[in-house]
Amino acid sequence: MAGTKALRVRRVGSREERKRPTVYLRLKADESFSGHALFEPNPEQEDNPGYFEYYTHFDQQANRYVPCAGEACPFCAANDSPSTRAVTAWYFPDNEKNEQIKLFEFNWGTIQALDDESEDEDGLMGKKLRIKRLDDRGNYSIKTRTGVDNKPLTAKVLKSVMAELEEKFDLEGMQEKRLQAALEAMRVQEALEDADDEDEEEEEEEETPRRRRTGKPVAAATEEEEDEDEEEDEDESEEEEEEPEAEADVDEDEDEDEEVDEEDETLQGVFNVSRIADEETGIFNFTNDEGEKFKMFLSEDVEVDYDEIQKGVDVQLSAQADDEGDWIITEIEVAKPKRRTTKAPSRRR
Ligand SMILES: [Zn+2]
Repeated sequence: MAGTKALRVRRVGSREERKRPTVYLRLKADESFSGHALFEPNPEQEDNPGYFEYYTHFDQQANRYVPCAGEACPFCAANDSPSTRAVTAWYFPDNEKNEQIKLFEFNWGTIQALDDESEDEDGLMGKKLRIKRLDDRGNYSIKTRTGVDNKPLTAKVLKSVMAELEEKFDLEGMQEKRLQAALEAMRVQEALEDADDEDEEEEEEEETPRRRRTGKPVAAATEEEEDEDEEEDEDESEEEEEEPEAEADVDEDEDEDEEVDEEDETLQGVFNVSRIADEETGIFNFTNDEGEKFKMFLSEDVEVDYDEIQKGVDVQLSAQADDEGDWIITEIEVAKPKRRTTKAPSRRR
């Protein structure tokens, strides 16, 4: 694949790509961060806005975590037992002003380890810790750092940082939103699947006629320019609502659906349609499992059935960067629920 194409500098393809820093910290194997804890890892602790521990399910079909809805939870109803996770807030005084508070999500095993550390250290609030991801199986090491360079935050600094945290983040509200979004996506998916089942037989006999689209990606890109500026502002204020990645867990197979081949500048995987900006020319906004946003343009020779591919639908797609650095969709179809084999809960009544 790479053979036919000359090597060239990897360029920044979009504004989204440029503003890498996000609210959620993510670690790959062997990576670590050192920051000041803005929480106690204790669900019973009062007045602990930097900590939110909750129940969650791994939705194999959508390949993401969905907060448990308790009594109304469709996953629990399908006998999938939830695990616990915790979102924690951290302070990085050396970062730029708007990048000083970050969130990190821990899995069950690591919550236990945090709790242990807290017991040994007589609390973690304000202390500087080093969190290191050891492998791809969700194992982390946790160390409280000591020495002159690693002093805990003073009471005064801690107070102002906590005030900023409370002003900017509502950890519970963020999970609440994720839950609502996931439930909505499931409703859409369910409706689609039902329709799909009914259609299936007919489709085998004769190919359903589909509307043909022609896309002019480059022209479309300039047209959209103004629009994009406006969106950017929105993005910034919405940033705190971004979905946390399922980083701190056994997530080996979560990555396999999505691959970026840097040499070829191609992108493949499952994306959620967050917006169809223009059906005529085929301009889409997608969100991947990590909450990253992508804007893509439909290639002229790809056809899309807009009855199937709608806002909120998960699609399997391939895209290629063009000379302008825009993502051009070369293949797109509704993501098949291929993972609903073993323990994926059934969404039908
Ligand atoms: Zn549940």
